[in-house]
Amino acid sequence: MKVKKLDKEFLEILRCPICGSKLEQKGMFLICKKCEKAYPILDEDVPDFLLEDAWDLEKAKKNNFMHNLKL
Ligand SMILES: [Zn+2]
Repeated sequence: MKVKKLDKEFLEILRCPICGSKLEQKGMFLICKKCEKAYPILDEDVPDFLLEDAWDLEKAKKNNFMHNLKL
């Protein structure tokens, strides 16, 4: 499956809602290494920062940073 990269300038302004760190895109997630959280990106370009929707980094890694979530 092909994964779209978020626009660089958009990614640059996004921050982890827990700790305020910059995020890194891996597959269909935005990763905070500090919190070890993975925030799903919905419909290719809508980051979901709801804490109840965040995955543990380990779980996202096991899923190869893929998910089937929709807006
Ligand atoms: Zn964080």
